[in-house]
Amino acid sequence: MLTRLTSFFMKTRPARLGPLRRYRAGRDPFTKSIRAPRKRAGEPGREMTTSEPAGIWKYVRGFENMSLCDWPGRTTCIIFLGGCNLRCPTCHNHQLAWDMHSLPELDPTAIKAYIRDRAAWLDGVTITGGEPSIAPGVGELIWEIKKTGLPVKMDTNGMRPEVVLDLLRDNLVDTFAVDVKGPWQKYSALTGGAVSELAAQKNLNRIFEMATARPEMFYFRCTRVPGLTENDLAAVRNYLPPTHELTIQKYVPPRRTPENAKPNHEERRPAGNVVN
Ligand code: SF4
Repeated sequence: MLTRLTSFFMKTRPARLGPLRRYRAGRDPFTKSIRAPRKRAGEPGREMTTSEPAGIWKYVRGFENMSLCDWPGRTTCIIFLGGCNLRCPTCHNHQLAWDMHSLPELDPTAIKAYIRDRAAWLDGVTITGGEPSIAPGVGELIWEIKKTGLPVKMDTNGMRPEVVLDLLRDNLVDTFAVDVKGPWQKYSALTGGAVSELAAQKNLNRIFEMATARPEMFYFRCTRVPGLTENDLAAVRNYLPPTHELTIQKYVPPRRTPENAKPNHEERRPAGNVVN
């Protein structure tokens, strides 16, 4: 499989493939995943307890072939990965984030062909979600894209700093767009109870350390969702390293009834208290 993908993308090589070699072996350093043990003749099947890197394409549940505004100043295409570790009551992509299996899988061959054929006039590829850092094998997906020579931006909520660090060290991602949801004390409400004040602070402080060391690799955004005040935004600005400014995004309410602001016991999510 990897051999075929390699030859597929080798028409345009990225400048540097050194640290990426390990992906060729099918090992995913981000999930520490291993391949399922081979079944020997006569041996009953063993259940695979870890993820297959090749399965990353199963998480691709959305593709936008052109965006002029997602990555400021660039024309990009966008790959959407299903699944998210947060439950923000204000989420726009709740179906993708919380119920990706209700969306069809997309044809990887068609997406790869699109990116390969338009690599000359695209300025980059955005990987977004949901939350891409929780998708097992996201590094392999990015590695495949990087072989076209296109830079990659990844959106993240910053709650998996260890994944961000791995991607950063391997030079797989060119820019991280990190969404800071609000001041620490409102994190639980802003994320549907998914993240505590302390966890948010700990995780994002690790991201801020990386941004201090590699300022060109990060930018930070905060969406002015209902319930966030000017003081809250000022607090978020103060969290950032002095090298960075906060981009404030306007909140556009989703075109639906705010079902996800109601309590959902199945999801163990309390009522969102940031939606008017
Ligand atoms: S981080 Fe929040 S807003 Fe973003 S996809 Fe996840 S639940 Fe939705």
